[in-house]
Amino acid sequence: MDNKINKLLSFIKGLSNADIDRILEYVIEILKVNNQQADRPGCPHCGSTHIIKNGHKDGKQRFLCHDCGQSYMRTTNTLMDQSHYTPSVWSEFIKDTLRGASLDYCSEKFGFSHQTAFNMRHKFLLALQDFLKQNPVTLSGVSEFDETFVLESNKGTKFTADSTRKPRRHGARAASRGISSEWIAICTGIQRDGGAIACTVNRAKPSKEELAAIFAGSIQPGTLALTDGLRSYNVLKELGICTVVEASKEEDGFYNLNTVNSMHSYIKDIYDHYRGVATKYINRYNAMFSLVFRSTQELSMNLFSTLCNTSPCRYWYSVDDVKQLNLTLI
Ligand SMILES: [Zn+2]
Repeated sequence: MDNKINKLLSFIKGLSNADIDRILEYVIEILKVNNQQADRPGCPHCGSTHIIKNGHKDGKQRFLCHDCGQSYMRTTNTLMDQSHYTPSVWSEFIKDTLRGASLDYCSEKFGFSHQTAFNMRHKFLLALQDFLKQNPVTLSGVSEFDETFVLESNKGTKFTADSTRKPRRHGARAASRGISSEWIAICTGIQRDGGAIACTVNRAKPSKEELAAIFAGSIQPGTLALTDGLRSYNVLKELGICTVVEASKEEDGFYNLNTVNSMHSYIKDIYDHYRGVATKYINRYNAMFSLVFRSTQELSMNLFSTLCNTSPCRYWYSVDDVKQLNLTLI
């Protein structure tokens, strides 16, 4: 972005004063239109911009849509709906979440209770899952597939007499080595120069059916799928979806899994920052990992404006939704 602006600026330097005046007029016109739009958010019910101000409710401006006749507020349907916190707090909170800040850190920084930080984070994650549903990732070209395993966590849940195991302290190791039922699989597919999909369906190594359920609808024909050799991936070939090739162990050859491995390091890193993630919420976090890996700071601004501006998409979730929706019970 900076590069484009620098080019534009040096181009402008070469122009005559009359041309620069014309550009200024044009920019001022754009700013006026943007300010008018910022002042009057589009209708979240029908998307119309044909709206008027319509009094106040609880000290907040209300708007009325000329086209569908419904009234609304600036935060209706957005991630911030029914929240006391300002857009700038939400924006900062989202940035911190994306860079892996823990809930304790956020609650201290913003003066929230831990519960409020938890609710805000999970409202955001649920909205991200929705965002991914509306903007699904498709893998093509050369894509790498592998699984990574994280320890099961019942974080936030009280252990009872009939719990299957004793509580594990932070940083403790699993009771047995290797892949046991205490490990949860995150199945990842990532295009070398594109998007990623991370999803948890089970504890152990994924079956054919599980891999087909995650990836079958998200791979373009003609894709070369590199895998770690797990036989279940052959289902992608059997279904006629793509070519499947086992990667070689050499990191510097073409048939490597370096991209998916670096995504897995990133996931483990964020896991450490967050001090673990309760297993029942793992797919909410997987949505974030899919979206955020390899993306720039621009993403957090884009996400903020997508999730926090009025639009016909509903990105608002209640505290009950946070407790109940999209739980991974495995
Ligand atoms: Zn409307």
